Amino acid sequence: MRLYNTLTRKKEEFIPIEPGKVKMYGCGPTVYNFFHVGNARAFLINDILRRYLEFSGYDVAFAQNFTDIEDKIINRAAEEGISPNEVAEKYIAEYKTDAEGLNIRPPTIQPRATETMPQIIELIGKLIDKGNAYEVDGDVYYDVHSFGGYGKLSGQPLEALEEGARVEIGDKKRSPADFALWKTAKSNEPSWESPWGDGRPGWHIECSAMCTHFLGKTIDIHCGGIDLIFPHHENEIAQSEAASGKDFSKYWVHTGFLTIDNQKMSKSKNNFFTTREAAKVYGYEAIRFFLLSAHYRSPINYSEDSLKQSNAALDRLYSVLDNLTFTAENAETVGITDAERETLTGLEQYKKAFVSAMDDDLNTADAIAAIFDLTKALNLALADNPSREFGTAGIGKLRELTDVLGLLYLRKNDKLLENDVEILINSRELARKAKDFAQSDRIREQLKNMGVILEDTPLGVKWRKI
Ligand code: AMP
Ligand code: ZN
Repeated sequence: MRLYNTLTRKKEEFIPIEPGKVKMYGCGPTVYNFFHVGNARAFLINDILRRYLEFSGYDVAFAQNFTDIEDKIINRAAEEGISPNEVAEKYIAEYKTDAEGLNIRPPTIQPRATETMPQIIELIGKLIDKGNAYEVDGDVYYDVHSFGGYGKLSGQPLEALEEGARVEIGDKKRSPADFALWKTAKSNEPSWESPWGDGRPGWHIECSAMCTHFLGKTIDIHCGGIDLIFPHHENEIAQSEAASGKDFSKYWVHTGFLTIDNQKMSKSKNNFFTTREAAKVYGYEAIRFFLLSAHYRSPINYSEDSLKQSNAALDRLYSVLDNLTFTAENAETVGITDAERETLTGLEQYKKAFVSAMDDDLNTADAIAAIFDLTKALNLALADNPSREFGTAGIGKLRELTDVLGLLYLRKNDKLLENDVEILINSRELARKAKDFAQSDRIREQLKNMGVILEDTPLGVKWRKI
């Protein structure tokens, strides 16, 4: 598998530190609000990378944190008249609801900054001891000049980064590019005891501490959105490598922006849709499909049209799956034929195309194209009224690939709808047998209002969702 590595600015063959094992870390949400569809893209790509590594046979340890103490959380708490901890708890729960809706699997480790405080404080202490950080009046700053590799991820010399750095009023930094590791406590804000007085950690140090504590000094892959390359990831490298004397992460994988009207979707620009509100209109699975329809490093533009098209594409996939299921359960022919076996062997070419797309820096766009080619071939085979066994094997072939992308997951859970539909279909059959056609039409109409279309076939009644 080849991955584009931001650190070397090249696509490289992925070679894990330990054979068969991958340690990866993704920067998680700051939990002060619902996450928007742009954030969803970054979390989703972490999930896809993890799923594909597992599909490729690796045992993956994947940590993604919750930033549960930060200015935005404190401000939100003040606005709502609740504690920062209550804000964080609320939005961690909302994050989990949306992540589950999007079929993003929970990371193997989900650490929280506030639960990693001893490790954060220990790491800051180590950086001071090694001469990479300094204390001024209860604040601790990282000294970027103390670390020779500063700028290697963003590919810029320190002087250029210093010029671009923001200096805020009251800053006690030696250089504009120095950044806070520990901030002295303000009144009415949560704080923790430390050797430098009560305070709370900066954002960058928490990721270094959590990543190192839960995964070790050197990990295989670190990921996040491209806006995190500088300063966040540059600072994570500076902190972790200065403390450990070892490489922090072998590969750096960054997701491109989700745009809207060709501008980065972001909370500060107020041009965002939360995942929750978009899901209410289009469904979670349409969002997942839409975000996977482009390569993760390319920008992708949010629009009503793209989400509608994603739903139409999903309908096509579900319709093939429904037809295969119907064949598996109801086909007249039982027992697979040699010709069907040959067809199934021929379908391996689509898996090969899928794998080679995903092996090429997770090209989900081409991987989805391979799935559609597979469904075309399955549809052709279905036209010949294949056996039940072919239906079952066809479902396996389709699901093998859609599962890697985490697609076709919603209707599986639609048991409630299925039960209602089955009951109504049975009542309609009874009405038809009793020649009560008015009643049978009423039931068909009722199903239509539920978004269910009936098709009378020689093998019985088939239904599908529109
Ligand atoms: P935040 O909660 O703001 O720290 O962001 C969480 C994740 O979302 C980070 O990995 C960001 O890089 C990513 N992100 C934020 N905005 C976008 C966007 N418009 N497109 C893609 N990723 C984004
Ligand atoms: Zn981070």
